[in-house]
Amino acid sequence: MTDAVIATDNVSKTNLLGLTQKGLEEFFVSIGEKKFRAQQIMKWIHHFGVSDFDEMTNISKVLREKLKQVAEVRAPEIISSDFSTDGTRKWVVRVESGSSVEMVFIPDGKRGTLCVSSQAGCALDCSFCSTGKQGFNSDLTVAEIIGQVWIAARSFGSIPATKERAITNVVLMGMGEPLLNFDNVIDSMNLMMDDFGYGLSKRRVTLSTSGVVPAMRKMIGLTDVSLAVSLHAPTDELRDILVPINRKYPIRELKQAIADYMGSLSDRARVVTIEYTLLAGVNDQPEHAKALVKVLKDVPCKLNLIPFNPFPHSGYERPSNNAVRRFQTLMQEAGLNTTVRKTRGDDIDAACGQLVGQVEDKTRRSARYQALRENQNEVVQVEQAG
Ligand code: SF4
Repeated sequence: MTDAVIATDNVSKTNLLGLTQKGLEEFFVSIGEKKFRAQQIMKWIHHFGVSDFDEMTNISKVLREKLKQVAEVRAPEIISSDFSTDGTRKWVVRVESGSSVEMVFIPDGKRGTLCVSSQAGCALDCSFCSTGKQGFNSDLTVAEIIGQVWIAARSFGSIPATKERAITNVVLMGMGEPLLNFDNVIDSMNLMMDDFGYGLSKRRVTLSTSGVVPAMRKMIGLTDVSLAVSLHAPTDELRDILVPINRKYPIRELKQAIADYMGSLSDRARVVTIEYTLLAGVNDQPEHAKALVKVLKDVPCKLNLIPFNPFPHSGYERPSNNAVRRFQTLMQEAGLNTTVRKTRGDDIDAACGQLVGQVEDKTRRSARYQALRENQNEVVQVEQAG
């Protein structure tokens, strides 16, 4: 099996990679075949990483020929794949819209977490996020989202070949706001959890949102994946700046949506993960910790502190290790289960918040950011000359 990915210009063929089990059943019925073919094909695609119908040996030659006429298995094109010295791996893949997006595999003991992107760019413009600075191009299709899992899983070989799966967890925490690409994300997560897909449990698939409250409510009853919420600030005043969607859905509404979603899960022991990026001097001071304790006192949660990973001209700095420890201690003393995310894949720009890809920006935001950077460069040059 090679890493080569089928590329075809025949856009009228149905891409089976992007179909859920139900969708595949409907597809087979539509071409006059039995529904059970869906499970057979899913095993070939998702368990064995096969994209060539000729390799699907338990399918009759007649059906294989028929499939070749009307269908394909097409993942995004791999542009590059890098290994970090710490074992982290990053792929850049090109999607249909022409943009490229990134996904990252982070091994940690027996756990292997794949962080996937849901959009090319992001419309939300969180002030400390490199993806946000690139503007927005497009929602990824189901085939483009699950295709990231397919590419990564395939690079580790067939699922049944090893008892321990290399990918044990998937987080929708890469580029984009998953809840703004709702239907495709729900279908993709269903494929991740389907036994004929990647067989991951609902606890091991995590959707991370910046707080799109109506979509969080829409998730109720439709899915029961784990939830992570990017809070990043303890007050509306500060969150309005760092995470601008807060102006629409302030912290009080966000907390209610979290409570409603978590309350809808059958397993009441599960808690939401609160993500909090620590920015030096901005939200990492003791008064911020105290305010955060107040916000979270009635939210059963795990708190994940993420020391900011700098990128050029972000305008923010990473806090010192002492400041991070102080913040963590204050939260732990208040009884909050608080971890600090280790920086992984820094040498290949795969650390949290550093994913950038190549986005064909539709929002002009990247042009504005570029102008800002050029301005800053000029100021620095003038200062240096002075
Ligand atoms: S932090 Fe997430 S939601 Fe905010 S701009 Fe970046 S990708 Fe979008």
